[in-house]
Amino acid sequence: MRVGIIGGGVAGLAAAYQLTKQGHFVEVFEQAPFLGGQASTFDVFGGRLERGYHHLFVSDTDITELIHELGLGDRLAWLESSVGFYYGGKIWDFATPMDLLRFKPLSIFQRVRVGLWTLLLQKTQNYRKFENITAKDWLSRRMGQNAYKVIWEPMLRGKFGEFYDRISMTWIWGKVRLRVASRSKGGQRERLGYPMGSFGEVIDVLAQRITEQGGQIQSSATVTQIVQSGGAATALDVQLEDSQSERREYDAVIATTPSYVFTKLAPPMPKEYQDKLEGTNYLSAVLMVLVMDRPFTNKYWLNIADSDMPFVALIEHTNLIDRNLYGGKHILYISNYPSRDSELYRKSAEELMELFVPHLQKINPDFDRSWVIEHHHHRVDGAQPIVGINYGAGIPDHRTPHKGLYLANTTQIYPEDRGTNYSVRMGKQVAQMVMDDAESKTP
Ligand SMILES: Cc1cc2nc3c(=O)[nH]c(=O)nc-3n(C[C@H](O)[C@H](O)[C@H](O)COP(=O)(O)OP(=O)(O)OC[C@H]3O[C@@H](n4cnc5c(N)ncnc54)[C@H](O)[C@@H]3O)c2cc1C
Repeated sequence: MRVGIIGGGVAGLAAAYQLTKQGHFVEVFEQAPFLGGQASTFDVFGGRLERGYHHLFVSDTDITELIHELGLGDRLAWLESSVGFYYGGKIWDFATPMDLLRFKPLSIFQRVRVGLWTLLLQKTQNYRKFENITAKDWLSRRMGQNAYKVIWEPMLRGKFGEFYDRISMTWIWGKVRLRVASRSKGGQRERLGYPMGSFGEVIDVLAQRITEQGGQIQSSATVTQIVQSGGAATALDVQLEDSQSERREYDAVIATTPSYVFTKLAPPMPKEYQDKLEGTNYLSAVLMVLVMDRPFTNKYWLNIADSDMPFVALIEHTNLIDRNLYGGKHILYISNYPSRDSELYRKSAEELMELFVPHLQKINPDFDRSWVIEHHHHRVDGAQPIVGINYGAGIPDHRTPHKGLYLANTTQIYPEDRGTNYSVRMGKQVAQMVMDDAESKTP
């Protein structure tokens, strides 16, 4: 079987790996000059660093297995993380249940109440009961209005901006379970995983394995159309760098692009499927990466619960990963998830630096711009699907209404939140679907 795959991110490569392993021929087309999509890397002082902060949770078993299968198991480190919460002009430790009990912005009664309901969330297996209620309603009713305002609303605003009050409780349920699953035995500190050669090394070895298994991967190759004939996807039109557009024929096509890109490439869809594709909106990620000569805080992850701050989290990569991988430099991500039509999204790197520096100085009064040796600005479109209530019912099937055309993108990851682990799992599952469908057609 010949399979064309649109997108050389984790999902596309995981599908390609699976198909080539079973002896099928695949071609992967990636529009960027590099592979890895949202998990791609760039060079920083001799090391490779993700454009957006990346780590793994202990429950991320699909990608962990893949990393081992690729022979990179000894490169995967599990490290104790440190989490802080910036509130009321102060950084509070926020990594363990004891930290919650010491969190003075809430009364002791409120702290215990948050702790007990969080425990209950962790124990709840069935997410469906959270599907038709917003996180705002559930959390403020159960944990109290003040706890919602202080702890949860900043987190929701951080991830979903103006959509914060429409997010389903299922999303919070998923986050709480994930973080608890990453705690060491005894329920205390969280451990996070990181491939020490970066996610870029995992992507490189995966790509190498795909080509060894007979597949082909082309970067700087943009798919401009999915061609259909007789109700089935039969070919892709591809714009290769510096050349004419080429038409390549396939028995099946897997698209891993965001839904809003897919609708432009795909043949017209029946209304019901089209509505599902158009029903999910995304936010982009805007990241500023500061490479510094000294540390900014002692936390890996710092949630910013202050609506006057123009960023929602600070992730100090080198408080998790050894800075000697980056020539001894300290690396801080400044993170935001705006929509593409927002002012913040449009700002240049210089404008963002001017905006951010005075606020960084509020968090660490010693901070000076001279600490920053270089800065890097990244925008990632389609970074975060907006998970509203009853989200599950609106997810489009992987099998589209056109025979031989499959969709595998981050909007279809649910009830978990998007992440590399789930893109690996989805890529594998959709590859299996393609093979099963082909087999069932064979007389
Ligand atoms: C800021 C940020 C932080 C994150 N942190 C973590 C983390 O800590 N841990 C974790 O596990 N996950 C994290 N993620 C999520 C994770 O990176 C993604 O869920 C995952 O990489 C998505 O992979 P994908 O292949 O499904 O999609 P993508 O990576 O989006 O891949 C789709 C690919 O399709 C390509 N494409 C689009 N249109 C075309 C076209 N017409 N022709 C050819 N190619 C096309 C795109 O260029 C892209 O490379 C983070 C994401 C972001 C943005």
